Amino acid sequence: MSQKNSEKDHRKGIAKISEAAKVSKPGASQANPEMLPAGLYLVATPIGNLGDITLRAIDCLRRANIIYCEDTRVTGRLLTAHGIRNRMAPYHEHNAAQQRPKIIERIKCGEAVALVSDAGTPLISDPGFKLVRAAGEASLPVVPLPGPSALLAALAAGGLPTDRFLFLGFPPNRTAARQNFFQEVKDIEATLVLYETGARLAASLADMAVTLGPRDACLAREVTKLHETFQRASLGDLADHYAASPAPKGEMVVVIGPPEEQQPDEDAWEAELERRLGQESLRDAVHAVALASGLPRKTLYSRALELQRRKKSRKP
Ligand code: SAM
Repeated sequence: MSQKNSEKDHRKGIAKISEAAKVSKPGASQANPEMLPAGLYLVATPIGNLGDITLRAIDCLRRANIIYCEDTRVTGRLLTAHGIRNRMAPYHEHNAAQQRPKIIERIKCGEAVALVSDAGTPLISDPGFKLVRAAGEASLPVVPLPGPSALLAALAAGGLPTDRFLFLGFPPNRTAARQNFFQEVKDIEATLVLYETGARLAASLADMAVTLGPRDACLAREVTKLHETFQRASLGDLADHYAASPAPKGEMVVVIGPPEEQQPDEDAWEAELERRLGQESLRDAVHAVALASGLPRKTLYSRALELQRRKKSRKP
């Protein structure tokens, strides 16, 4: 075996992980020594702390033929921090329709195309869905490289149930639409996770408190950054706090616990039924208590008859 061949074999044999470690040294430069197989690579990037990137992501960003990103300045800073030099091109909501067929064509021609967003996992409240769909329709490989996402980091640290959750993205801007939006999910037995901006937080929390009712919540701000905070309080207390405070700075995720199971207090409702029976007809008393308590009408009706019977038997 010639020395040239053995070097080539050796290079091929190096695990991707050690390749990535090699290029992660700041300042290292490299010219895509070994291309990746053709495909669309969805690469998660940090949501704040630049260290939150996988070895595999670094390797992919180095070896892809091209990196599509929302903003080349933002992604450029990430690449520089990890000593990666590669070609970038913009893919964002304003040029996506025009870029999509070109990207698909590149992959068909054998290129490895990496897609990143400014931060976190591409496609999660970020561009990319139609591109992934188009790649799938063209039977081209789509390769996820999982990593940071603000929603999962906030959910994990929020201190609320994690066994079942619903991600809502950004709620609508306007109050009426926003209240309808929360109304639609209010009975779902799951933790809710949503993105919000500082400017809209106070109004949005007020709408959540009105429509979702009393629940535990957590406002996760600047996750993985210098001013990371997790503010755990009831939804009502958070709404009151931000109604009286300036709009908070930075990026934020709101995590809201599932609706609390409210066991109707049957003794208390029986007392209310008895009180009403002293003032109203049996029918009206049962109707009012059924509406207010959520208890079955049939149960309340037999209880009311029993109360009336006992009352009569007590009379001298
Ligand atoms: N694709 C990203 C992801 O996977 O998390 C989300 C992109 S979305 C356009 C941006 C929103 O994510 C921000 O407005 C904020 O609600 C949330 N976000 C991103 N980074 C965050 C951070 N470090 N701390 C808290 N929220 C963050």
